[in-house]
Amino acid sequence: MSQSSTVAPETDAGAPPVKGLFIDNEIVAARSGEHFDVVDPSSGTCWIRAADASAQDVDAAVRSARRAFEGEWADYRAADRADFLIRFGQAVAEHAEELADLQVRENGKLMREMHGQTTLLREYFNFYAGLAQMPTGTTNALHVREMVNYTVREPIGVVAAVTPWNSPLLLLTWKLGPALAAGCTVVAKPSEVTPVSTVRFAQLAAEVGLPPGVFNVVTGLGAAGAELTAHPGVDKIAFTGSTPTGRAIAATAGSRLTRVSLELGGKSPNIVFADADLDGAVNGVVAGIFGASGQTCMAGSRILVQDGAYDEVVDRLAKAADAIRVGDPRSPASEMGAIACRTQYDKVLHYVDVAKADGARLVAGGVPAQVDGLPDGLFVRPTVYADVTNDMRIAREEVFGPVASVLRFRDEAEAVAVANDTEFGLAAGVWTGSVARAHRVAARLKAGTVWINNYRKTSYATPFGGFKQSGLGRENGADALREFTEEKSVWVDTGQGIKDPFNPRA
Ligand code: NAD
Repeated sequence: MSQSSTVAPETDAGAPPVKGLFIDNEIVAARSGEHFDVVDPSSGTCWIRAADASAQDVDAAVRSARRAFEGEWADYRAADRADFLIRFGQAVAEHAEELADLQVRENGKLMREMHGQTTLLREYFNFYAGLAQMPTGTTNALHVREMVNYTVREPIGVVAAVTPWNSPLLLLTWKLGPALAAGCTVVAKPSEVTPVSTVRFAQLAAEVGLPPGVFNVVTGLGAAGAELTAHPGVDKIAFTGSTPTGRAIAATAGSRLTRVSLELGGKSPNIVFADADLDGAVNGVVAGIFGASGQTCMAGSRILVQDGAYDEVVDRLAKAADAIRVGDPRSPASEMGAIACRTQYDKVLHYVDVAKADGARLVAGGVPAQVDGLPDGLFVRPTVYADVTNDMRIAREEVFGPVASVLRFRDEAEAVAVANDTEFGLAAGVWTGSVARAHRVAARLKAGTVWINNYRKTSYATPFGGFKQSGLGRENGADALREFTEEKSVWVDTGQGIKDPFNPRA
């Protein structure tokens, strides 16, 4: 039975309600009764609590997903799965306001960004619905006659989808959509900062007819994620989060050879050549590092500027940063919302000390922001450092906040060398008036996505993922379902027989 309430049965008088886990299309309390606070980072208040799943709860969710995978869901034809995805996308669009509001309460990002993102999810589900019905196998020319060989792609099984807090439902959709399209079942583990929106998402799926167990949600701290990803009943892990957690998950996956895809961190270069349209470039640099308060994996946090334009870009960027309206994420006038949680807020401000110790020159921000009516909110002024060199920690480590490091380069070769001198390889931007240079540099950058004269665009239609320490595998694009399938090769004898039992190639 599906439930439309956002609140679990269990509540303490006077305390915020507790949102339960979602297993077999039911909201259920954690067996231990444990829960944790979910804090609105704009106001600093706990508005709801979420169940903290134990190993037993995780086990129940995985077993339920296995039952569904081998049971009712296995009888769904591709057309039936596509039909569900289209209905679900429609339901998500109809609840876009509610889902966006939940995410803003959880992570403090701007309502206009979260609403835009949530509204677009419908198109993602439509795209995966289309892929569900595409042919996935091949027929193959062989070295022997009178044999037919074909391949089929079968759903991989139970998928553990572990997600971060910055775009909870978008990043879950990148996993859930193709997994369900392929015929898998899913146990999602959202970030402890943003657990509630994912539970509501699963309730909506149940409300539009998804069979019990196909999409379960376990909320909890990192330990619940560790339990889930180590569970022997999980066939594939689809993870988005930090590089250190990704490495830990890959090690766990390695011990069982569980299939794994990882979307991890970045320290992406946004390269401005002196021949660029500087109005467009500065706008793109601002979008790259201050959009979403810099809390995005693809943040263009290393801004490489060519000598001839360096002083002007630093000056313009500092002015643009100072002009950004940091405020209530629900106000249409605000341009930057809150930092998602106290740990992240402390981390961002810690990097002010790190940059100072390294000798970077602060030209904007570097302090908390005061927002009228929200004295306990976690707000930070957009921050810009000039005279950064690529050996400084502020140029090498992911801050995941509104902190820009501006580096100087002389020529194209140096720009490419500095851009690639990082352990990460998620994304890069190139701003130039030269088409030839744009293609030359794009070819030499070691990054999963390169934007020419734009930044921070993504789509269901194009693959996304990282080189180097930014990840393994790709999400989205025409091959999105491959990560959620196993390929099987089938041989059929049409009259050849076994000619030589001791030589299979005969
Ligand atoms: P995180 O790695 O701390 O947590 C991500 C998720 O993993 C959470 O649900 C968390 O509870 C869980 N987790 C923590 N420890 C675990 C463990 N040992 N085993 C299994 N699960 C565990 O990341 P975060 O702080 O929530 O998110 C920010 C990070 O995510 C940044 O590094 C950012 O670059 C990255 N990110 C990457 C992409 C991408 O597509 N490449 C997109 C968004 C965010």
